Amino acid sequence: MTVGQGDTESAGRQPYEYVIIGGGIHGTCLANYLLADGGYCHDEVRIVEPRDELLASFELKARQCGMKTLRSTFVQHIDSEPFSLESFAEGAGLGAELVATDDYPSRPTLDLFLDHARAVIDRADIDDCHRQTRAIGIDSSDDSLQIETPDTRFEARRVILALGLGADPTYPEWAAGLSDGAPITHVWHGEFDPSTAAAFDGETYVVGGGITAGQLACTLSEQTSVTLLSRHQLASALSEADPYWLNWRHLERELHSLPPGSQARHDRVRAARNDATIPPYVERRLDEARDCGALDVLIGEIVCAHATENGLLLRFADGTTDSNAQVILATGLDPVLDHPLVSTVAESLSLQRGTNGFPVLDDRTLAWQRTDGSPSPVYVSGALAEPSVGPFARNVIGARRVAERLLDPPDQADSRRATPRYSGTS
Ligand SMILES: Cc1cc2nc3c(=O)[nH]c(=O)nc-3n(C[C@H](O)[C@H](O)[C@H](O)COP(=O)(O)OP(=O)(O)OC[C@H]3O[C@@H](n4cnc5c(N)ncnc54)[C@H](O)[C@@H]3O)c2cc1C
Repeated sequence: MTVGQGDTESAGRQPYEYVIIGGGIHGTCLANYLLADGGYCHDEVRIVEPRDELLASFELKARQCGMKTLRSTFVQHIDSEPFSLESFAEGAGLGAELVATDDYPSRPTLDLFLDHARAVIDRADIDDCHRQTRAIGIDSSDDSLQIETPDTRFEARRVILALGLGADPTYPEWAAGLSDGAPITHVWHGEFDPSTAAAFDGETYVVGGGITAGQLACTLSEQTSVTLLSRHQLASALSEADPYWLNWRHLERELHSLPPGSQARHDRVRAARNDATIPPYVERRLDEARDCGALDVLIGEIVCAHATENGLLLRFADGTTDSNAQVILATGLDPVLDHPLVSTVAESLSLQRGTNGFPVLDDRTLAWQRTDGSPSPVYVSGALAEPSVGPFARNVIGARRVAERLLDPPDQADSRRATPRYSGTS
């Protein structure tokens, strides 16, 4: 695509070394690595993020679903030193916010995780790199990349795509025809607020069978009557995948040995991820709410819904109905592969896409390959990097794995190196 004619942020200066697109967990963590460990200065790194604060997207979602603690462990955070969060908690007298977990390392509360992340942002002055705008395209000229936004352009030697999980909430088909005022929303809708939802005078159905639905149902059941509606039996898993998948050696053996861009890689990642599962500590909250009579769990599916004067009339797959209901969907986000920037960038820079449209990356550097097989200066982090970074790519720890490859890629001959510095649980 052709870059527009607006002002250029970097006019009259050298291109930035890195422009990171997305200031969420991954973009912020990578900026911290580049500044703290990579030796880059603030003038060389930009984060393009439309929200007014870094990490705002994650915080909003976490608050919307009533998340109290992270699912991941205390060594998984945005700083580069594994025990940074633990030291921060001890120094601030917040040791009690590291929650002991059976057969698992402690997990931080959401507040502790975010307080620590803000301390990292302040320490490295990462806000100084943040430009509040949205990337809408990337083109190449001479030796650099031009990143287009609605108001300006950035010139960079390298770009990192850190776009997150997906741009839009997923709505089931039966919800499509409902009028705007109908009492149905999605937990990731920008305006959703659990305290307003709890004021509904009728039964609240939380639709979904994973951790988000579980946490939301527990939170709402503290104030109103809730049915958690899942189309499958609730399944339990402590972590998103087996911790072996945190280790580069394991990833190289089990994933990188399969052809890049192949269905086989995709299938291996899907099989390893404990998607749509609920950790035991949320199961316990659900059980307690059930025991108090504040929550029901129903296995089934809504097949149609009509808006009436008294809330929704719902029909379920088994033929039963309920009336005077509101629905809150916890049905996830559309795949990040549907993010418009992914196809725009692939097209304008002739980049290779594999099964289901995933970028085909160089496993050693995480550079997105061109269709001629050469490495491009576009790097990928987060869910988009799953075929190379594996089942934890989208998680907090996935950003650290990407930083390792960006700053210190293994030699071609030495790509069987183990995960540096940290144990398997980091
Ligand atoms: C509620 C919740 C709880 C989670 N809990 C955990 C957990 O405990 N442990 C764990 O390891 N993982 C967890 N995850 C998974 C994962 O760690 C988080 O989703 C994390 O936010 C992913 O980081 P990210 O940077 O990829 O995405 P995000 O944090 O969502 O950031 C992506 C950013 O990209 C920006 N963006 C998108 N398009 C553009 C564009 N065109 N231009 C510029 N910027 C753009 C967005 O505005 C957003 O700020 C959780 C996820 C959710 C939703």
